[in-house]
Amino acid sequence: MAKAIDITGHTYGRLTVIRRNGVAPGTGAAAWLCLCVCGKETTVNGYFLRKLITTSCGCAQRAASIKSNVKRGATIFGRRGVRGSNIDLDIHIERKMAREDEDDEAQS
Ligand SMILES: [Zn+2]
Repeated sequence: MAKAIDITGHTYGRLTVIRRNGVAPGTGAAAWLCLCVCGKETTVNGYFLRKLITTSCGCAQRAASIKSNVKRGATIFGRRGVRGSNIDLDIHIERKMAREDEDDEAQS
Protein backbone atom coordinates (compact mmCIF):
# COMPACT_ATOMS: atom_id res chain seq x y z
CA MET A 1 0.00 0.00 0.00
CA ALA A 2 1.08 3.58 0.45
CA LYS A 3 4.58 4.13 1.62
CA ALA A 4 4.70 5.15 5.24
CA ILE A 5 6.05 8.54 6.09
CA ASP A 6 9.17 8.16 8.17
CA ILE A 7 8.46 9.81 11.50
CA THR A 8 11.39 8.32 13.38
CA GLY A 9 12.65 10.81 15.93
CA HIS A 10 9.48 12.88 15.88
CA THR A 11 7.78 13.69 19.14
CA TYR A 12 4.03 13.57 19.56
CA GLY A 13 2.92 14.69 22.96
CA ARG A 14 4.76 12.45 25.39
CA LEU A 15 5.84 9.98 22.75
CA THR A 16 9.10 9.99 20.82
CA VAL A 17 9.18 7.68 17.83
CA ILE A 18 12.00 5.17 18.04
CA ARG A 19 11.45 3.12 14.91
CA ARG A 20 8.92 1.58 12.59
CA ASN A 21 7.31 -1.47 14.07
CA GLY A 22 5.32 -3.22 11.41
CA VAL A 23 1.72 -2.53 10.61
CA ALA A 24 -1.13 -1.73 12.92
CA PRO A 25 -3.42 -4.77 12.94
CA GLY A 26 -6.56 -4.44 10.92
CA THR A 27 -5.83 -0.98 9.60
CA GLY A 28 -2.89 -1.39 7.26
CA ALA A 29 -1.40 1.78 8.72
CA ALA A 30 2.20 1.89 9.83
CA ALA A 31 2.81 1.16 13.47
CA TRP A 32 5.64 2.84 15.33
CA LEU A 33 7.52 1.92 18.43
CA CYS A 34 7.52 4.95 20.69
CA LEU A 35 9.10 5.83 23.98
CA CYS A 36 6.87 7.64 26.42
CA VAL A 37 8.30 10.20 28.81
CA CYS A 38 7.28 7.92 31.64
CA GLY A 39 9.80 5.40 30.30
CA LYS A 40 7.37 2.92 28.85
CA GLU A 41 7.62 1.75 25.26
CA THR A 42 4.48 1.41 23.26
CA THR A 43 3.58 0.71 19.65
CA VAL A 44 1.16 3.16 18.12
CA ASN A 45 -0.68 3.43 14.85
CA GLY A 46 1.06 6.22 12.92
CA TYR A 47 -2.26 7.76 12.00
CA PHE A 48 -3.12 8.22 15.65
CA LEU A 49 0.29 9.77 16.25
CA ARG A 50 0.05 12.28 13.46
CA LYS A 51 -3.48 13.21 14.39
CA LEU A 52 -2.34 13.51 18.00
CA ILE A 53 -5.01 11.07 19.03
CA THR A 54 -2.40 9.03 20.84
CA THR A 55 0.13 11.17 22.63
CA SER A 56 1.28 8.91 25.42
CA CYS A 57 1.60 5.26 26.32
CA GLY A 58 -1.71 5.72 28.04
CA CYS A 59 -0.49 7.43 31.18
CA ALA A 60 -1.67 10.84 29.97
CA GLN A 61 -4.73 9.72 28.10
CA ARG A 62 -6.10 7.92 31.06
CA ALA A 63 -6.23 11.14 32.97
CA ALA A 64 -7.23 13.45 30.18
CA SER A 65 -9.53 11.69 27.81
CA ILE A 66 -11.38 9.16 29.86
CA LYS A 67 -13.52 11.83 31.39
CA SER A 68 -14.46 13.71 28.27
CA ASN A 69 -14.02 11.18 25.55
CA VAL A 70 -14.80 7.71 26.74
CA LYS A 71 -17.37 6.85 24.15
CA ARG A 72 -15.52 8.43 21.28
CA GLY A 73 -12.27 6.87 22.42
CA ALA A 74 -13.86 3.49 22.63
CA THR A 75 -15.07 3.87 19.09
CA ILE A 76 -11.69 4.89 17.82
CA PHE A 77 -9.64 2.35 19.66
CA GLY A 78 -12.14 -0.34 20.40
CA ARG A 79 -12.87 -1.14 16.82
CA ARG A 80 -9.80 -3.23 16.44
CA GLY A 81 -7.49 -1.90 19.01
CA VAL A 82 -3.91 -0.93 18.52
CA ARG A 83 -1.53 -3.63 19.53
CA GLY A 84 0.90 -2.37 22.11
CA SER A 85 -1.38 0.39 23.21
CA ASN A 86 -2.91 0.28 26.62
CA ILE A 87 -5.46 2.90 25.83
CA ASP A 88 -8.21 0.73 24.50
CA LEU A 89 -7.68 -1.67 27.34
CA ASP A 90 -7.85 1.08 29.89
CA ILE A 91 -11.00 2.47 28.37
CA HIS A 92 -12.50 -0.96 28.18
CA ILE A 93 -11.78 -1.55 31.83
CA GLU A 94 -13.14 1.81 32.84
CA ARG A 95 -16.28 1.25 30.82
CA LYS A 96 -16.69 -2.25 32.16
CA MET A 97 -16.37 -1.00 35.69
CA ALA A 98 -18.85 1.77 35.06
CA ARG A 99 -21.20 -0.65 33.39
CA GLU A 100 -21.02 -3.17 36.15
CA ASP A 101 -22.01 -0.49 38.58
CA GLU A 102 -25.31 -0.02 36.88
CA ASP A 103 -25.91 -3.27 35.08
CA ASP A 104 -24.73 -6.50 36.62
CA GLU A 105 -26.47 -8.54 33.99
CA ALA A 106 -24.28 -7.30 31.20
CA GLN A 107 -22.10 -9.88 29.59
CA SER A 108 -19.41 -10.89 31.98
ZN1 LIG B 1 3.60 7.00 29.62
